[in-house]
Amino acid sequence: KTHFDVETIRKDFPILSREVNGKPLVYFDNAATSQTPQQVIDAIVDYYTRYNANIHRGVHTLSQEATDAYEQARIKIQEHFNAAKAHEIILTSGTTHAINLVASGFASLLKKNDEVIVSALEHHSNIVPWQMLCEKTGAKLKVIPMNNEGMLKMEEYEKLLSEKTKLVFVNHVSNALGTVNPVEEIIQKAHAVGAAVLLDGAQAAPHIKADVQKLDVDFYAVSAHKMCGPTGVGMLYGKEEWLKKLPPYQGGGEMIATVTFEKTTYADLPHKFEAGTPDICGGIAFGAALDYMNNIGFEKIAAYEHELLEYATQKLLEIDDLKIYGTSSDKTAVISFNIGEIHPYDIGTIIDKLGIAVRTGHHCAQPVMDFFKIPGTVRASFSFYNTKEEIDTFVEAVKKAKQMLS
Ligand code: PMP
Repeated sequence: KTHFDVETIRKDFPILSREVNGKPLVYFDNAATSQTPQQVIDAIVDYYTRYNANIHRGVHTLSQEATDAYEQARIKIQEHFNAAKAHEIILTSGTTHAINLVASGFASLLKKNDEVIVSALEHHSNIVPWQMLCEKTGAKLKVIPMNNEGMLKMEEYEKLLSEKTKLVFVNHVSNALGTVNPVEEIIQKAHAVGAAVLLDGAQAAPHIKADVQKLDVDFYAVSAHKMCGPTGVGMLYGKEEWLKKLPPYQGGGEMIATVTFEKTTYADLPHKFEAGTPDICGGIAFGAALDYMNNIGFEKIAAYEHELLEYATQKLLEIDDLKIYGTSSDKTAVISFNIGEIHPYDIGTIIDKLGIAVRTGHHCAQPVMDFFKIPGTVRASFSFYNTKEEIDTFVEAVKKAKQMLS
């Protein structure tokens, strides 16, 4: 067993000491949004206290300081994901924005009857933008099916691939079940037929340090708010050659080289995709969040979270009629479950009264719920600042809810 000093880490997160409904908060909704350490809060306060200014255009000192800090954050993000170039990192408002940027750009690259491939295990934000793209272009959307364990059927994936396939988009980790998808193989096989690959890394990024060059992935999207950063900011990594090929997503200030009423030319990367004033403070705080997590270390984080996952899985399975969805051996710390016919919402409501935060519902992944023929699940998702004691409290609360509802 690894030694992980969770008590010291917890002191970095002021919110973890608050009470909810008179009980100590147990926060197990980390897959929706993670909590924010003091170091990141300080970066936000420091920005608005000392150097709040618009970037990339001012000659004055504040603007230069803000620009430097923002571009420094881009380099931290580049280094974290091991992108070859800083201008391959586009700062966005989050994963959703990043995926829409790529989907919108591909409208000019796809023809009728081209094919694009998604998986059965996706968040709506990696389904709907592509359906919109298919409507615009006449391209066809194919779906990699999954099995009862919540794993993609890779032999079916191979059958879907052909020279018609232009793009494959799957999540690195499923938000509904926690399954880690075999992305190396997905990428290799797509590239073998000449298709590009976008990975939705929203759920992977808090647990796995992805190396975009090693993966050889074409696009990678994440949200800062799932990895100790603020809401409203995220990134799209794109290989330079692809980002050059795609047209701009939005028009406006910052994204131009020259503007006349006859013709506008666009700025170089990354500014071509960063129209308007971005979330400057958010970008800087995203960099601070990466520093924070890297200081702890992703290997340590993953090992500790795995311990929490195993502990909670074992404890929960002692409850009669409790069924866990998603039983791949390669999972992040997410447990999606139901108990008998009890509605997940009712369990969530009762345990909230006991100070415990979990997510209930379809988790923006309705096709996954349809596959299991359920309206939704209770989803407990753990982070490296959670403890086994919290899991004990949670399991007792679930037992109590079950008693009240059966
Ligand atoms: N994809 C996955 C797998 C997610 O879990 C989420 C967030 N729930 C998103 C995309 C969307 O992220 P955001 O709302 O931050 O844009």
